[in-house]
Amino acid sequence: MSKGGRFNTTRVIAAAAALVLVGVALSVSVEPVFLIAVLFVLVVPFEKAMPRHKGQRVRRPAIGTDLAHGLVTPIVAPAGLVVAGALGVFSLAWLPGLALRPLVGQIPSLAQMLLGLVLFDLLIYWTHRFSHEVPFLWRFHAIHHSTETLDWVSGLRGHPFDGVILAPAFVFLLAAGFSPEYAGAITVIQILSGLFLHANVRWRLRPLHRLIITPEFHHWHHTNEPTAMHSNYSVFLPIWDIAFGTYFMPANRRPETYGVDEYIPSGVVGQLLWPLRGIGNPLVRVGRGLSHPIRSLRWLGAQVRVLLGQMQRSALRDTGNVTGTVPHPPRRPDRPSASTRVLVSTSPPR
Ligand SMILES: [Zn+2]
Ligand SMILES: [Zn+2]
Repeated sequence: MSKGGRFNTTRVIAAAAALVLVGVALSVSVEPVFLIAVLFVLVVPFEKAMPRHKGQRVRRPAIGTDLAHGLVTPIVAPAGLVVAGALGVFSLAWLPGLALRPLVGQIPSLAQMLLGLVLFDLLIYWTHRFSHEVPFLWRFHAIHHSTETLDWVSGLRGHPFDGVILAPAFVFLLAAGFSPEYAGAITVIQILSGLFLHANVRWRLRPLHRLIITPEFHHWHHTNEPTAMHSNYSVFLPIWDIAFGTYFMPANRRPETYGVDEYIPSGVVGQLLWPLRGIGNPLVRVGRGLSHPIRSLRWLGAQVRVLLGQMQRSALRDTGNVTGTVPHPPRRPDRPSASTRVLVSTSPPR
């Protein structure tokens, strides 16, 4: 078979797998259809009236992939919730929460809510920054950043294991004494407001630039321009980017191109599987862990040390210019860096 023939066959199989996945998801729940309809009604009129990139059509390339990410949520989100629960516990974010609990209980309720928002945003700033600057986390977050068009629907593209970065902040709020309803409301507001930040609208909202994030702030976060990479990590308040040296909002120009410079499959099924390459079967890993517990714990400890070392380098990197000194996460995931290889090694734990 010719190379072109293989290419087409692969695309046909990927499209068929995506259709099956979407079909199964719709049989579980049609709620995402309503969310997509609401996004369309609320955002597209503004994109038509005040487009940031003129001439960008609603039916643009890869819109099917972004829509499919939204539609398959009912069947992939539960896997993300399981990982989120584990991350919430093992991140130990509840420890500083417990330490703050007596203080939180003593302040008035309005101040309490503001404090909760600021602290939530601080934690998300760091988990989001690590998602970009720690290679193993970037492989999941890169799916969200792989869209080359920002509009009403591109915020739906994301891996379910990438969304788990909200878990430490959520657990922190609960441990600090904030109600589950409040912590849940902030999380939902973050997710929904995040969808609007991708809209193709030309509002600059300059007076708000340093107070609250805007579509322009998040568009800079999505650009693949080298000078702007590793910037604008906050999800509510730019104050954290200003404080930690990653704020990037030039007054005289605006982002033109978006996406990542590495290979990411084009369809939803490929994008869901791509970050898992090389990780192996988790059940086999658990089986090995049970039969060789000491060796497995040593192996796990080594992985955690690698991750913590990369987080430390990210936290301490020079942000004198925004791009800093940290090299971008691996451009060629098929040839991962040594540190990435350690984290995805399929060899038995030693
Ligand atoms: Zn990001
Ligand atoms: Zn985004």
